Amino acid sequence: MENIVILGTGPAGLTAAIYAARAELAPIVLKGDQPGGQVTITDILENYPGFPEGISGYEMYQSFENQALRFGAKIIADTAIEVDFKSPPFTIKTRDQLFQTKTVIIATGSDPRKLNVLGEKEYIGKGVSYCATCDGFFFKNKKVAVVGGGDSAVEEGLFLTRFASSVTIIHRRDRLRANPHLQTRANSNKKMNFIWNSIVTEVIGDKQSRVTGLKLQNVKSEQENIFETDGVFVFIGHIPNTQIFKGQIDLDERGIIITDRRQRTNVPGVFAAGDVQDPIYRQAVTSAGAGCMAAMEAEKFIAEQEGTAYPGKLE
Ligand code: NAP
Repeated sequence: MENIVILGTGPAGLTAAIYAARAELAPIVLKGDQPGGQVTITDILENYPGFPEGISGYEMYQSFENQALRFGAKIIADTAIEVDFKSPPFTIKTRDQLFQTKTVIIATGSDPRKLNVLGEKEYIGKGVSYCATCDGFFFKNKKVAVVGGGDSAVEEGLFLTRFASSVTIIHRRDRLRANPHLQTRANSNKKMNFIWNSIVTEVIGDKQSRVTGLKLQNVKSEQENIFETDGVFVFIGHIPNTQIFKGQIDLDERGIIITDRRQRTNVPGVFAAGDVQDPIYRQAVTSAGAGCMAAMEAEKFIAEQEGTAYPGKLE
């Protein structure tokens, strides 16, 4: 019987691991299919406090992992494929093993929805990005495109106007989904342009492996043309990694895990942290904070169950 099994090794999962290990709970941490999560696809994080020169996403992941290992977390290269949260102890089946545990912290993250077109994967980090906060700075005085028509596309597009010489929103319909306030701001920003009724069918690059343009198709006329750009930011929604939790814990209509402000799901003893339960901030630093909270809550939960709770702790 384990005290705590943590699913995921992004900032949320590994911070939870550091706190749980320091609380001597000997956490089991499952790396999942994308060890390190979304930070590892980020070139440089320049907004994580404590790194004035920035830190590469991969280096950050390794530092988090080394810190968790130093305190005794057991990090396993395996992925949960089935869970049973109906009654404690909870069961987690992985590709290779079966765990029984008193508590679970779900930190399986979310993946940005991809365009799934030719060239997209090839140019990730070379002009294709899913994070304006992370990568906008690299497009100073450059021309960028934004794909999507929702709040994220317009808000992030407006953010990119701080750096880029022009920001062109490419949307598959003839009107934005974004809220009217954002639309007004976008329409009155001189750097913002729009291409309507169009989808990206290919990301094009040069021999130095940088994005140089996009092949677009007008969905009404079916005409194709090349749009020249130095980068493309894709904001067409996120997909939370919650498939295996369906029917086990409460998810919202988007598949995001519902938690209270103490990272508790509707199943006592099961907690969630990071992008898998946060549709708003999605930052490494907020995920790390949520991971810390989840681990402290799990520690308290175990102590309460076993009658060893320290009075007053985490009221
Ligand atoms: P979203 O609202 O789901 O919008 C996704 C956009 O991408 C839509 O315009 C959609 O087009 C387009 N799209 C989806 N799949 C596509 C594809 N395969 N190819 C091309 N275009 C595609 O997602 P979001 O903007 O990330 O927002 C998510 C949630 O967070 C929303 O509830 C939003 O209100 C909220 N949010 C709020 C704020 C804020 O209040 N400031 C900021 C960011 C996000 P269609 O319009 O044609 O469907």
